[in-house]
Amino acid sequence: MVGVNKTVFIIVDGMADLPIKELGNKTPLDYAIKNNLHKFLRHSELAYPTVLGKMAPQSDAGVMADLGYDPIKYSTGRGWFECLGLGMKPETGQLSIRINFGSVYNGMLKDVRVYMQEDELEELSNEINDRVKISADFDFKAGVGYRAGLVLRNGGGRFSHFVSNNEPGYTAKFFGNKIKLSFATEINNRRIQKIKAIRNEAAYTAEVLNDFILKASKVIKSSKVYNERVKKRLPVPNYLFLRDAADSDPGLEDINRKYGRKWVTVAGMPLEKGIALSAGMSVLNVNENKNIKEDFEEKIKKITYAISKFDAVYVHIKQTDSLSHLGKFIDKYAVIEAMDKIIISGLSRVMDPNKDTLVLTCDHATSSKLKRHINSNIPVMIANDRFRSHTSFDESSCRTDGNKSIKKAVDIMPFVMKL
Ligand SMILES: [Zn+2]
Repeated sequence: MVGVNKTVFIIVDGMADLPIKELGNKTPLDYAIKNNLHKFLRHSELAYPTVLGKMAPQSDAGVMADLGYDPIKYSTGRGWFECLGLGMKPETGQLSIRINFGSVYNGMLKDVRVYMQEDELEELSNEINDRVKISADFDFKAGVGYRAGLVLRNGGGRFSHFVSNNEPGYTAKFFGNKIKLSFATEINNRRIQKIKAIRNEAAYTAEVLNDFILKASKVIKSSKVYNERVKKRLPVPNYLFLRDAADSDPGLEDINRKYGRKWVTVAGMPLEKGIALSAGMSVLNVNENKNIKEDFEEKIKKITYAISKFDAVYVHIKQTDSLSHLGKFIDKYAVIEAMDKIIISGLSRVMDPNKDTLVLTCDHATSSKLKRHINSNIPVMIANDRFRSHTSFDESSCRTDGNKSIKKAVDIMPFVMKL
């Protein structure tokens, strides 16, 4: 529609970082050359809000907060969004869970992520779906890389989300009866733990999940994918790590009605698609299994289309977080530079600087040195004609020059939607 102000809201996964010695004590965001972003900085507001205070958020909490939904008020467990984003249609009363294909050796954790080719992951997931027999009906579906989703549909008892994760490094926390979030914690004990019932009502759920893990690992080890990878001396998955089981719909208010704008997301990862779907957004899917240049070129094409058909576009960019977890800070700033060259420059051509708003932020900070999420505040740029000029966009300029009324990540969206 001509005349309507458009909003493009980009969440760059784990973009914020700590200063890195090898980068001259700059963060990757600070170090990256961002010539195209400077055009937007000429009229911009900066902010440096916290996401979850002292707690280091996962992506689900960070994205919810950025989109204006307080995780402490809504989150029932990340598994809901993951399975929704995978097209598994979870329902309240069923149990939806995020899965990692990983490996163990002698009862000890070896790797929480074993990456596979798309067809391998698909084949192995289908085999688990077909061959594992437990006391509940379930669906198991491949995700991206090393990820999958599990939905327990009906069983011999009621499902409850009051269970622990068996993925080390993520601890489930509960807030009242409904709210559940996981937090990244350091892995001190590498011995594989069973899923535990946190409340008595979850005893049946824990029992079914432990049975599932045992039987699925047997299916994995007898599969063609496993044996071929052993032959090729590739890393082999032999275990499943489960986390963030959810037993109910988080009930996010419809974002289109809330702000009177028609939203769409351009995303490829199930979690982000799931959150967008939950918020009532339309989805323009992108395939995440490509190189960065191709990925960004596809994204800017889809964003350009989205701007022509919708009022507001939420864009997810994944690579920055994955690279931080691998400690690759050089590749991380290179991704930020590629984003500037391809996506931000593309936006400078299609957005109207007199009317439209570009938001650039992240869901949480991920330290490339510590290789995990941290509780640092997040840098935010809100580019709109009404604001004054800034010369840099990074953690320290946002800390110094940031709008103090945006204290928390959940404050960003109401601020932006009033422009
Ligand atoms: Zn994230």
